[in-house]
Amino acid sequence: MSETADVVIVGGGIEGVAAAWALSQRGVTDVLVAERNTVGSGMTGKSSGIVRCHYGVSSLAAMAAVGLEVFEKADDMFGVDIGFRQTGYVVGVGEPNVDSLRKSLAGQRSVGVQTEEIDHSDVAAMWPFADLTPFAAFGWESRGGYGDAYLTAQAFAASARSAGVRIRQGTPVAELLTDRDTVTGIRLADGTTVSAGTVVVATGVWTKPFLEPYGFDVPIRVVREQIVTIDPGVETAGVPVFSDLVSLQYVRTEVGGEILFGNSDLSDVEEVDPDRYLNRATEAFVDLTVDKVGTRFPGFGGATIRASYAGCYDVTPDWNPVIGATPIGGLFVVAGFSGHGFKIAPAVGRLVADLVVDGRSADPRIPESDFRLARFAENDLLKTPYPYVGAGQMR
Ligand SMILES: Cc1cc2nc3c(=O)[nH]c(=O)nc-3n(C[C@H](O)[C@H](O)[C@H](O)COP(=O)(O)OP(=O)(O)OC[C@H]3O[C@@H](n4cnc5c(N)ncnc54)[C@H](O)[C@@H]3O)c2cc1C
Repeated sequence: MSETADVVIVGGGIEGVAAAWALSQRGVTDVLVAERNTVGSGMTGKSSGIVRCHYGVSSLAAMAAVGLEVFEKADDMFGVDIGFRQTGYVVGVGEPNVDSLRKSLAGQRSVGVQTEEIDHSDVAAMWPFADLTPFAAFGWESRGGYGDAYLTAQAFAASARSAGVRIRQGTPVAELLTDRDTVTGIRLADGTTVSAGTVVVATGVWTKPFLEPYGFDVPIRVVREQIVTIDPGVETAGVPVFSDLVSLQYVRTEVGGEILFGNSDLSDVEEVDPDRYLNRATEAFVDLTVDKVGTRFPGFGGATIRASYAGCYDVTPDWNPVIGATPIGGLFVVAGFSGHGFKIAPAVGRLVADLVVDGRSADPRIPESDFRLARFAENDLLKTPYPYVGAGQMR
């Protein structure tokens, strides 16, 4: 059997369906998304969903700002609640990082992000349970918060489908079809071929082995990330997301009054096989959580650990994604989101659509060259000009 499409997207995670949605918005609807499992069933379903524009890399700050605008308008755009909760976002740093924080905030404002510095008393009013003594400065985004990556992916998929995009679940892609240095389509695991002049590979942590046979490397390590949920023992409704760059942790409220804890210390990572990894926190990680949360939030009097799980990050050498062309004509890769691909997904989708339709980004704040695959070979990594000591990876 064979069929055709203008564009095939391999992978129905949030990045793949965001690309399908954005293409459909630009009138490109002869699109087929092939997802081997179900939409959002990969790492999208495990996302903490934190929404902030706090990036030192200005193109990423701009992408997060685009994402935020879409999340804010989601009710009107998609007609459903995608789970975005605008609690606000606070980031706190110690003395060595004050200069970087201030420069980063200024850089963010220059690309349209609404962010400001606030002081201890402001944060104490919002987070009365926290010991703020070791912090020297705080950044604040009143429009930040957290979302639900799974629900957001479903909304993108539903919108794309209603515009005519074919979203095939339970449809593994076995291989790419190429003619010399050009992609001509894909072959599904059941032998069906789909001819297409453009193929977008958005297979997250599974990308490196999927593309290896085609003669170029996408340098992605798969890294396990553990999440613990906590019953804080006190009423925390309405507290903002708190990114603590002193103890290297982030916390946010969870539906039902729990607190979701994530570790921001990415200096010592655990590489794993994305198809066989421990899907819960280790005892050592639980101990670390108790220690970090106990130290930072003495106001959580009767806190207890509720549950844990783990996901994987697709980590590139500079902790930033690849969104762009490959050495094979017509073949694009959209992967390597390194643990921060949810908030920028709407902008990622739009950039993919721009690249497919026009060959370049339509948003001057988001130059496509920032995300080119060749930057690794050229040793021209995409790094913040204002790195944080101890927490440089994704800010
Ligand atoms: C624990 C955790 C916490 C996170 N927290 C945040 C956060 O707070 N904020 C934030 O912005 N980001 C966060 N992220 C990152 C964000 O969730 C991811 O970057 C994003 O979900 C990745 O989406 P994706 O579409 O690239 O990958 P995935 O969702 O993994 O989708 C890839 C899809 O490709 C499919 N696939 C693979 N191979 C094939 C094939 N051969 N044929 C067909 N289909 C195939 C898979 O089944 C999968 O559905 C977090 C991630 C994790 C794991």
